[in-house]
Amino acid sequence: MNVYEYQARDLLARYGLPIPAGAVASSPQQARDIAERLTGRPLVVKAQILAGGRGRGRFVSGFAGGVRLCKNPAEVESVAQAMLGGVLVTAQTGPEGRPVNKLLVAEAPRISRELYLAILIDREHRCPLLIGSSRGGVDIEEVAQKEPDAIQRLRIDFLSGLWPYQARELAGRMGLHGSLRNQVVDVAVRLYRFFCDCDASLVEINPLAIVENERIAVIDAKVGFDENALFRHPEIASYQDEVLEDPREAAAAKARLNYVGLSGNIGCLVNGAGLAMATMDILHRYGGEPANFLDVGGGADLERVTRAFDILLGDPKVRSVFVHIFGGILRCDLIARGMVEAISRLQPKVPIIVRLQGTNFEEGKEILEQSGLPIRTSDDLAEAARKAVEAAREAG
Ligand code: ADP
Ligand code: MG
Repeated sequence: MNVYEYQARDLLARYGLPIPAGAVASSPQQARDIAERLTGRPLVVKAQILAGGRGRGRFVSGFAGGVRLCKNPAEVESVAQAMLGGVLVTAQTGPEGRPVNKLLVAEAPRISRELYLAILIDREHRCPLLIGSSRGGVDIEEVAQKEPDAIQRLRIDFLSGLWPYQARELAGRMGLHGSLRNQVVDVAVRLYRFFCDCDASLVEINPLAIVENERIAVIDAKVGFDENALFRHPEIASYQDEVLEDPREAAAAKARLNYVGLSGNIGCLVNGAGLAMATMDILHRYGGEPANFLDVGGGADLERVTRAFDILLGDPKVRSVFVHIFGGILRCDLIARGMVEAISRLQPKVPIIVRLQGTNFEEGKEILEQSGLPIRTSDDLAEAARKAVEAAREAG
């Protein structure tokens, strides 16, 4: 889960990282008020979207740049006016862009050079990886591609952690000396502490800038977290409401369901991620388009099944629902009872196709068939998938 820049800044600030003063605004007046409280000049106004490339982006309205330097609070207000409510298109958003509802207003120290510093997971070597470059800024991707030697890497051992001498060595390879080198070591060590404490999967500072008086400053921060560890971080988890822009995904996250919203019209409720993927494949095979990926998990109880149905049926695009359960530890009769209760409570208008297999599937099927509810069952996967696709087509 990625968070907005202003949220990342709040979290990083607690680790003592050098972050220019600033705050988040959702109205031009608020942006102006923040600007007036800040003492440094110039100021910077930054569109808050979950995608990079903002500096070179362009609003659909024609307004250029999602990152703008301003001389005074009045200019901040007018830039905020132009950005808020707009749609920003960058190299990372796709042509449809992203709506801008919040802005970061911050002091903008004069930048003399832009560096790059990041920690991410090296999947190949199964360890955190510290990456640094003296060629940071908006062209880092191009630098990485054309001059791979300009990017320095350091694998971090999970057990011993990141030692300052290792960070020193990396900062040296980045071509830094003296106080700058010390400051970058300090930033790297603090970033790594943050990375571990918060179960981050990515922290990328680009640019990490050299500003006035040879000081180092965090100018932009992109941070992602391991969703499986969010339960250990209630504050970060509380950002979910804001960062999950798809309301279906936000509701699913609250119910702790493993859900990914898609663009089709067949709602899928499946237990097990592998079975969920196979289910989506077979729907495609018969010309259908799933509305979502949803794994209710092996231990699905009535509560979770009801919440899952809520989300599927609350999606206006859904024309049919395909329930595909393989009963192992989770018995089919139990899930059938849960379904009957959930479906009679929710009174869905769309057809529901169910395939149960595994433990007690015969009892499960009987419960569904005798419930009097508009549920169609099938023992055969291909037949069930075809029914779900046809039902969606007829209803659509
Ligand atoms: P993004 O990565 O989404 O484009 P950044 O915050 O990195 O957004 O800003 C892009 C570029 O804008 C930076 O690389 C820098 O050149 C410029 N910029 C951002 N903040 C400042 C600032 N405070 N002072 C001067 N330039 C800035
Ligand atoms: Mg950046």
